[in-house]
Amino acid sequence: MPTAVAGPEIERLIQLLARLPGLGPRSARRAALFLIKKREQIMAPLAAAVQTALEKIEICNACGNVDTQNPCTVCRDHNRDPGILVVVADVADLWALERAHAVNARYHVLGGVLSALDGVGPEQLSIAPLLRRVETGELKEVILALGATVDGQTTAHYLADRLHDFDVAISRLAHGVPVGGELDYLDEGTLSAAMKSRRPF
Ligand SMILES: [Zn+2]
Repeated sequence: MPTAVAGPEIERLIQLLARLPGLGPRSARRAALFLIKKREQIMAPLAAAVQTALEKIEICNACGNVDTQNPCTVCRDHNRDPGILVVVADVADLWALERAHAVNARYHVLGGVLSALDGVGPEQLSIAPLLRRVETGELKEVILALGATVDGQTTAHYLADRLHDFDVAISRLAHGVPVGGELDYLDEGTLSAAMKSRRPF
């Protein structure tokens, strides 16, 4: 056990910061010190924002998105094509597609991907609610926007199989070359998937 350099309140702050994604113990210590130095400008408003978000956060019953209202802002938006549903693994993917203005549709968050290694089966994911949404018959296309990882693709194949009997078009992302990406910076997997899904010019 390393010796504590500060009181338990500060040590607790560092320990909690160290649990954030991307922050290890060293960066958590730096972040804690930064907050302490900037306690009026950053720490107080951050604490208030965390408290407010904690009180207001809701998980959308329809799609699984995180928002402060339920149904969420995306589900309430009547300007979206009601016939297209984009299936994503995580809320982060939904937000990334929204930031990219990739599609004007609604979403369905699975809450992960199938993984034999991590013991994630279909019943651990929001698949039954997805099938219920497709069963309504209001959709004309389901886009499987899942990652180009082995688990992501396994999940896409599983879902394509389950959706096969419904009268709905199923599509998936092309694993293309990233916009602005030099070919020699790409990993081989991306490059070979890009080559396999090539289209006439
Ligand atoms: Zn929603």
